[in-house]
Amino acid sequence: MSKKNKDFVEKITAMEDDFAQWYTDVVKQAELVDYGLIKGTMIIRPYGYAIWENIKDELDRMIKESGHTNVQFPLFIPESWLQKEADHVEGFAPEVAWVTHGGDEELQERIAVRPTSEVLFCEYYSRHIHSYRDLPKLYNQWANVVRWEKTTRPFLRSSEFHWQEGHTAHATDKDAEIETARMLDTYADLVENYMAIPVYKGKKTESEKFAGAKYTLTIEALMHDGKALQSGTSHHFGSGFAEAFDITYLDENGDSQFVHQTSWGLSTRIMGALIMVHGDNRGLVVPPKIAPTQAMIIPVAQHKEGVLDKAYDLRDQLKGLVRVDIDASDKMPGWKFNEYEMKGIPVRIELGPKDIEKEQVVLVRRDTGEKEFVALADLEKRLPELLDEVQQNLYDKALAHRNEKTTSVTTMEEFREMLEEKGGFLKAMWCGDEACEEKIQEETTATSRCIPFEQEKLAETCVCCGKPAKEMVIWAKAY
Ligand SMILES: [Zn+2]
Repeated sequence: MSKKNKDFVEKITAMEDDFAQWYTDVVKQAELVDYGLIKGTMIIRPYGYAIWENIKDELDRMIKESGHTNVQFPLFIPESWLQKEADHVEGFAPEVAWVTHGGDEELQERIAVRPTSEVLFCEYYSRHIHSYRDLPKLYNQWANVVRWEKTTRPFLRSSEFHWQEGHTAHATDKDAEIETARMLDTYADLVENYMAIPVYKGKKTESEKFAGAKYTLTIEALMHDGKALQSGTSHHFGSGFAEAFDITYLDENGDSQFVHQTSWGLSTRIMGALIMVHGDNRGLVVPPKIAPTQAMIIPVAQHKEGVLDKAYDLRDQLKGLVRVDIDASDKMPGWKFNEYEMKGIPVRIELGPKDIEKEQVVLVRRDTGEKEFVALADLEKRLPELLDEVQQNLYDKALAHRNEKTTSVTTMEEFREMLEEKGGFLKAMWCGDEACEEKIQEETTATSRCIPFEQEKLAETCVCCGKPAKEMVIWAKAY
C-alpha cells in the first residue's frame, strides 16, 4: 500500500463539541476556501466555487427571466459622491476601505472601494433617465465589494465578498414596491427550492433596515446551532436616493418627477448557510440541485478485470442524465467513501466484480447513509428519482429543525429561558417602540430578524414593556 492510501480523511470536530470549529474544519477539509493574504479575505477554491457557480447561475437565470440585464460598474467611488446620501454614508463609513495614493502621488480626494454600488448607479441614472419612456431601468451586477470587517469568518463575514446587486429605477412608488417584493420572492425561491433551506420572509425593523432605504425585506434562515443567518435582502428606496442624486424624469403630462428605486443583494454568505443548515459530523451535505457532482462512481476492486471498463461505461451512460463523475485513482475505496461524504456529494455509486456479475450497482445516499441495490437496467430511472428524494428530504429535515426551534413567547422571562435552553427563532409581540427592541437586544443578545409577513397574534401586549402590541417580530441570535 502506498503512503497516500494510508492517509485517511482528516477528522472533523463534532458539531456538538464545538460548532465554530466544526464549521472551520468543514470549510477547510471540503476544500471550499483558503485564506487570502490580507486578513479577512478569502480564496474560494475550485470545489467551493463550483457550488457557488451553480447557485449563481440559477439566480442569474431567474434575474434575467424577470426582465433584468447585467451590467458592470467601477470599483471606485469618489468620497464626495459617497457623501451625497446622508444615511447611506453614515451606515457604511466605518467599513469603507480608502484609496489615498495613485502610485507615489497622494490623491486630492480619497476614493472609496465600493462597499455597495448605490452611488454609482444613481450617478449613472441621473444622466440616463429623462422620460417615463426610459423606465423602468432593471439592472443587476455581479461584483466584488469591500467592507473592512473587524472579525471575519469564511463566507459569513469577510472583508471582501462576491455578490450580485440589483439596482432598479421605476416611475412610481408602487412599481418599486412590487419590484422589492418580487426580488425577495426570487431569493426565497432560490434558497428554498434549490438550496433546500426554508426561510422566513418579512420586513426589517427601522433600526435593522438598509442605510438609506425606506424599508428592507429579508429572508432569514436557521442554522444547525440555532442561530439565524440573514440570507438575502431587498430594499425599497422610495425617492430618497433620487432626491439626493437628482434623478428625475418627465411624466406623460410633461411634469418632472423623481424616480423610485430598489436594490437587492445575495452574496457568497449563502454558502455559509448551505454548510450550517445541511452539514453534519461527516462534513458537507450538498443538495442535488446545486451539487457540482450529483453522483460519484467508485469502482470497488478496480484491479480486477473488467471493473474499470464497466465503471467508465456507466459514467458515459449516465453523463447526460445527471452530473456524474468517477474516481478511478489508486486510493482505497474506504478513503474515497469518506472523501466524497465529506464533500457532500449526494449519491455514491459503488460498482465491484460481484455487482457486475449480478448486473447491479449499490447506491448510497449522503443525507441518510442508506444503501440500495439497483439493477443496472433500472438505474437511469432510479438515480434521478433518488436525487429528488434527497433534495426533498434535506428540505424537510431543515424545515422540521426550523419549526422545532421556533418558539412563541409572551414574557421576557420566557424569552430569556427559551433563548438559552433552545436557541432558535423566538416569536414575540412588539409595541413598535425602538427602545424595547434595543432593550431586548442588550439583555438577551438576540436581534430582531424580521416582522414576518405571516403575522400571528400571540398576545395583546408587547413582550418587553407590556404596552399594546402592534405586530409580531421574529428574534434570534444571529451571524
Ligand atoms: Zn414595547
